[in-house]
Amino acid sequence: MYDVIIIGSGLGGLVCANLLSKKGMRVLVLERQHQPGGCLQSYRRGGMMYDTGLHYVGGLAEGQPLHDIFKELDLLSLPWQRLDADGFDRIMIADREFRFAEGYDNFLETLAKDFPEERESLQRYIQLMQCTDEVWMQQTNAYDYLRSIIRNPLLLSVLSGACLKMELKRDTLPLFTYVHGNAPFIQSSWRLKGDGNMIVRKLTDNFTRLGGKLICDAEVEELVEEQGAIRKAVCKNGQAYQARYFISDAHPSVTLSLVKESQLIKKVYRRRIDNLENTNGMFTAQLLLKPGMVPYFNYNEFLYDGLEAWDGRGYMVSCRVPEDGSTYARQIDILTPMNISECAAWTDSLPMRRGEEYLQFKAQKAQKCVAVAERFLPNLHDYVLEIHTSTPLTYRDYNLSPDGSAYGIRKDAAAPLLTVLSPRTSIPNLLLTGQSLMLHGLHGVTMTAMYTTKEITE
Ligand SMILES: Cc1cc2nc3c(=O)[nH]c(=O)nc-3n(C[C@H](O)[C@H](O)[C@H](O)COP(=O)(O)OP(=O)(O)OC[C@H]3O[C@@H](n4cnc5c(N)ncnc54)[C@H](O)[C@@H]3O)c2cc1C
Repeated sequence: MYDVIIIGSGLGGLVCANLLSKKGMRVLVLERQHQPGGCLQSYRRGGMMYDTGLHYVGGLAEGQPLHDIFKELDLLSLPWQRLDADGFDRIMIADREFRFAEGYDNFLETLAKDFPEERESLQRYIQLMQCTDEVWMQQTNAYDYLRSIIRNPLLLSVLSGACLKMELKRDTLPLFTYVHGNAPFIQSSWRLKGDGNMIVRKLTDNFTRLGGKLICDAEVEELVEEQGAIRKAVCKNGQAYQARYFISDAHPSVTLSLVKESQLIKKVYRRRIDNLENTNGMFTAQLLLKPGMVPYFNYNEFLYDGLEAWDGRGYMVSCRVPEDGSTYARQIDILTPMNISECAAWTDSLPMRRGEEYLQFKAQKAQKCVAVAERFLPNLHDYVLEIHTSTPLTYRDYNLSPDGSAYGIRKDAAAPLLTVLSPRTSIPNLLLTGQSLMLHGLHGVTMTAMYTTKEITE
């Protein structure tokens, strides 16, 4: 009998496992995949490691949002590389490049040089980034609010230009998602010198050293409710595990589908969760480059075809830190939002067996990504040795993310009470965690895991 069983070893599940093990609880993590990590796992091709859902993190320096909790999780001991202070993110719109400088004052002064007549708008933007009134921000639409404080449409696009790390949707995105998704990065932005698996290994080592256990290839098929509580998790291979508490890091609708018979979960709650929309997915082209051809760049470049960042058609180009000390890059990722409907022809297919047409479709999309990136990396296509790609189908099939969504349930400023979920369910010993609840990304998921575990420890 365990104290807590956690379903899913994404960042949310692993942070919960760490915090609960530190409190002396016996924790078991069950993961359906062959390796832990969910969106943070890395994969190997031809001797090189590639990440699936990590490019950079914000707010790691002392006094900033992730510092204390990453220190407690021993994640600050990993080799983090601080991005360029004079431009950690660079936004290219209509062939003009704008820089985001580190620190609120530098951020303001740098953009005020490009938009001198908008200094007052920039000051209001910085005040917004420093505000933490979540209730007010949950109910306010980000696009409408930003338009009310920023007159120049180009500046509005520039300020939102690094927002591929959230779903930039005019009619739904709440201001609190926008602020939490941007503010920590302005304080300081960091890349790992190595792959995201380092985070996964560190978190796994931490809690297993304290007596916890991780079992992979263990897909939970049913959470059995008896006499007002979940009593056991039954895996596909027939193994059953018992605990006092159960935390699910799987998508909430996946979690509810595991509770097949329940006296406590009302049909209306199931319908509500199942009907919530999910954010779009992501197309990623991961490039292996010829050695010594493309200098390493210590920032992210965001590119837009037109003037408008809010149409959701931007590209992010990110560079992996060379681990051999070279000043040249070997790996570059190019990301662009993608709805799973673009993959409708292959809906029923399985990974690695989707057929030749799917491979051609992905190759064409990857070529478009390379062509866009050439706006700031001329002749990039001449330096490419290999391209590895993923689509929303990849995330649907590996992580069981409905619709291949990149960031989980879509939050809606017009309906915060419906789309922002509590860790509690109507079954007292079943809790939720993960990116679909409140906030996504490393910052959001870590904070959410802290809320979830408090339901047990306080
Ligand atoms: C392309 C992409 C790029 C990103 N880039 C960044 C970035 O640069 N910075 C940043 O901060 N964030 C980034 N993110 C977001 C970040 O990766 C995620 O918000 C976060 O990792 C999600 O963690 P999670 O624990 O909520 O969910 P997940 O990582 O999805 O984990 C859920 C886990 O549950 C498992 N599971 C599901 N069902 C079951 C079951 N029945 N039984 C057992 N196990 C089950 C899954 O296999 C999975 O391992 C990115 C995301 C994507 C998709």
